[in-house]
Amino acid sequence: MKMRVAIMGAGLSGLSCAIELERHGIHPTILERRSRVGDRFINGEVFADIFSRPVKDEVRYLAENHQIYIQPPSNINELILYSPNQQATLKGPIGFVSIRGRHEESLENQLARQVKSKVHFNAEESYEDLLREYTHVVVATGDAEYVKRIQAFEVGLTVTLKGTTVEGAFSRARVICWFDQRFAPHTGYGFLIPFSEKEATLVLAYPEYKGISAYDKDELWKRFQDRASRDLGQSLKVTDSFEVNEYIMGIAESPRLGNTLFVGNCLGTIMPLMGFGQFPSILSGIYAALDICGIEKYEDLIASIRSSYYNSLALRRFVESLDNDGIDKVIKLLNGYWGYKLIHSKINFLKWAGYAVRTLSPVPTFDRTVQERRASDVQPHTDQQ
Ligand SMILES: Cc1cc2nc3c(=O)[nH]c(=O)nc-3n(C[C@H](O)[C@H](O)[C@H](O)COP(=O)(O)OP(=O)(O)OC[C@H]3O[C@@H](n4cnc5c(N)ncnc54)[C@H](O)[C@@H]3O)c2cc1C
Repeated sequence: MKMRVAIMGAGLSGLSCAIELERHGIHPTILERRSRVGDRFINGEVFADIFSRPVKDEVRYLAENHQIYIQPPSNINELILYSPNQQATLKGPIGFVSIRGRHEESLENQLARQVKSKVHFNAEESYEDLLREYTHVVVATGDAEYVKRIQAFEVGLTVTLKGTTVEGAFSRARVICWFDQRFAPHTGYGFLIPFSEKEATLVLAYPEYKGISAYDKDELWKRFQDRASRDLGQSLKVTDSFEVNEYIMGIAESPRLGNTLFVGNCLGTIMPLMGFGQFPSILSGIYAALDICGIEKYEDLIASIRSSYYNSLALRRFVESLDNDGIDKVIKLLNGYWGYKLIHSKINFLKWAGYAVRTLSPVPTFDRTVQERRASDVQPHTDQQ
């Protein structure tokens, strides 16, 4: 029987999987629920080098190793971190910006242009239907809810995201991040991510826990917007807005079920500390393709992504224990030697800080998981290569 591969979802992980499969002569059937690639709100997102180490430059890495070509709208050379009473300015090669959603130059549209196979839009096929027709199914729906119908999925946290596109005057190379429990509870964060000199995404994200409904979401947003306008020294004109509720950051019990492979958010590629998941999502798609082609084993390739997830979750639990004074202290520390080291050294911050936090203080809610994984985590591995 001839190998037939179906990919559910034409997002980052699904399209990357298709590109890698095609490089090895396999042409998958790509099924996308929406009517076009990236058919959702437009927003700026960040590729942050410190979370991708030992890879130093994700764009170059993908081009050199997998012939996946990304044209980012800008490099990030400056990161400003604000806490209630402190500011840290970090300069150097921090990462790059990507545009997401229905923008012509969005990351998903750039990837789609590199795929030769047809993308079938408005696809209604269920996983069960696909299993009957295809030898392999890649679940790339970006949606943990879908995975939960197929297998166990452990939710690390759910997050509320509210964002706007704002017009103003921005430096394309400067990303700004705010931490303040008064508008971003549980050590959430606000970001300004410019995707041109005139347009930026202003987004606020914070975990949802019991009692969070006690917060007035509009009031939190107003406080954040006021603070951002004040720090930017300009009033921001809102041209679009979006809201994502109960955005799940978690991990699938198993990366595979027979010949079904889970990739991207369906695998567990969003790192809970700051919600970054683009690069691991792309990698997981590539890794699934390498497995399907019989080149390498998926479980081995994604081991470092899973490990990073648990490290990132441990760090999230740690930062959530900080109050505003604690956050001020961390930001003060980063404004100088430690901030410089963070950006310019080759240290795999996520790996070592996460490991230290997990060793010194096991994550209360995830004791069971952490204990279970600890044995495999102490094995040396190359992160996210
Ligand atoms: C507001 C926001 C801001 C973010 N900011 C950052 C950031 O700054 N940096 C970062 O690294 N990460 C960020 N992330 C996370 C990052 O976007 C995700 O980790 C990444 O997009 C996941 O890729 P994916 O392939 O799993 O899913 P996606 O790229 O979302 O693709 C999933 C695709 O599957 C389709 N689909 C869904 N269900 C079905 C179905 N049943 N059948 C067929 N198709 C289906 C969807 O329509 C979609 O096209 C952010 C996420 C959000 C929501």
